[in-house]
Amino acid sequence: THFGYDEVPEHEKQARVNQVFTNVADKYDLMNDIMSFGVHRVWKNYFIQVVRPNPEWNYIDVAGGTGDIAFRYLKELNRFHPSSSSSVSPPEPSPQTTSAESSEKALVYPTSKCVVADINANMLAVGKQRSLENNLHDRIQWVETNAEKLPFHDSQFDVYTIAFGIRNCTHIDRVVSEAYRVLKKGGRFLCLEFSQVNNTLLQYFYDQYSKTFIPPMGQIIANDWKSYQYLIESIRVFPKQTEFADLIRSCNFRYVNYENLSFGIAAIHSGYKL
Ligand code: SAM
Repeated sequence: THFGYDEVPEHEKQARVNQVFTNVADKYDLMNDIMSFGVHRVWKNYFIQVVRPNPEWNYIDVAGGTGDIAFRYLKELNRFHPSSSSSVSPPEPSPQTTSAESSEKALVYPTSKCVVADINANMLAVGKQRSLENNLHDRIQWVETNAEKLPFHDSQFDVYTIAFGIRNCTHIDRVVSEAYRVLKKGGRFLCLEFSQVNNTLLQYFYDQYSKTFIPPMGQIIANDWKSYQYLIESIRVFPKQTEFADLIRSCNFRYVNYENLSFGIAAIHSGYKL
């Protein structure tokens, strides 16, 4: 039942990850609620408080999957700036997607103030469907692309977020460097990710819980043990808080810091391009 995360050759890692999210896309949102007992919602809501959405910004959420972070961002904007809602405009038949193929030839400028980028078409499809249901479809540009090589010109965004996505990427240094490249001067990088628990007792229970609960639940709900085995292994191998902060610094970000959530089960890392 070992996914063999460490043994997977580097050039195959992304394909494995894509398989995982293709398999679980339909059940992804439900699984998050069950496996975290709904806590992922608390973390994401808090993350948006840290982001502090601003209607003036060009905003990008990378590895945005089914849109959880972007929807929260837009809803928060609507709460404080109801005029920034474009619900008066007629709905388009289907949300816009920029495909990585067409954009590989030439870099593009974002056409929306809120971009969701993800490598997996199935995750994006679920997100687009949800955006239609939430009346947010005309506010988001969905872009199918690898976070390691974004199809945008330099210095386009005021804020870049990535939530529970960077540990799935093969070269996290390339992801952070790309974030730096596409951010404007003064722009902010914010990452929400599983991290290292800072309490030994909690660490023990958390390990037990991860090993005995998550893969079986993955089997029951998504009929996919291996994908969820992969999930816990990817958390185990991800750099701890201080190492990840160092990596962000090494990509030229300034004022880098982090904040633990739930004793470090998750952490928010932040840095500025100055
Ligand atoms: N951000 C969303 C959330 O918080 O619910 C989704 C997180 S989900 C755990 C991880 C996402 O990362 C998946 O949608 C997956 O397709 C995406 N992903 C994995 N590797 C990627 C890459 N190299 N570039 C862009 N997205 C990637």
